[in-house]
Amino acid sequence: MPELPEVETVAQGLRRRALGRRIAAVEVRHAGVIAGSAEEFASTLEGRTLARVSRKGKAIAIELAADNGSAPQFLLVRLGMTGQLTVTPREAPIESHTHVFMPLDDGREELRFRDVRRFGRLRSLTPAELEKVLGALGPDAQRVTESQFLAAMRGRKGAIKSWLMNQNLVAGLGNIYADEALFEARIHPLSQPGRVSADKAHQLYKAVRKVLDRAVRLGGTTFSDYLDIEGRPGAFLKKLRVYQHTGEPCRRCGHAIRRIVIGGRSSHFCAQCQPRPRVAAKMRGTVRL
Ligand SMILES: [Zn+2]
Repeated sequence: MPELPEVETVAQGLRRRALGRRIAAVEVRHAGVIAGSAEEFASTLEGRTLARVSRKGKAIAIELAADNGSAPQFLLVRLGMTGQLTVTPREAPIESHTHVFMPLDDGREELRFRDVRRFGRLRSLTPAELEKVLGALGPDAQRVTESQFLAAMRGRKGAIKSWLMNQNLVAGLGNIYADEALFEARIHPLSQPGRVSADKAHQLYKAVRKVLDRAVRLGGTTFSDYLDIEGRPGAFLKKLRVYQHTGEPCRRCGHAIRRIVIGGRSSHFCAQCQPRPRVAAKMRGTVRL
């Protein structure tokens, strides 16, 4: 499932391949991936030029300029679980589950949105609507300052793993990078954010930034569906230390990596390097495996 590094890789690809190009037409084959009316989606975006691509958390906002100088419109892209946004030659074979086609300027290439599980969404927004949607998210995990990060931890109960994945507090982390950052900072996933020592909190802030920056440099992690704008997988998979390494020896100490379920999601960690705190979060639905 795409998290910040995968989404950032797609945003970088869009900047490289599609900036300055015009959306000649919008064809929606499956309206389920469009938030709101598909007709309105198409009519508000057709004929506009990709002027800027920005990202906050796991959301991509594409600024689309009008030829007549009227206010820009934004295309908000959420990849969901299996969404893929690619720039593809128009004559390339159409893969199943491709739901939206947007031919670009000269007609040789097009933006395609493919999504097997259809949790992804495309949305056309005015500047004011975009501000509201992005304003609901916490600071972006790659740009969050240490003081913002520490302030968001203060007084928080519950599992730090769930805290890291709460997009309203810090936006961009999902299951993979939350597990990897906690391992890097040597913090047990059931620690409580408000009870972590100042030193550990500082370590976690550094770990989040380090893990994300490395993953962005390697183009993200591909398990099954994630691809970049050219349709290529990410290379961070080999760098994962705990995520989906249950039972394998920890790279630091050799103890077996363990898996527990927190809030319905798998958490992978080393019980030796990430000792359980004296007061762990009590989570209903936490299963020891
Ligand atoms: Zn270990």
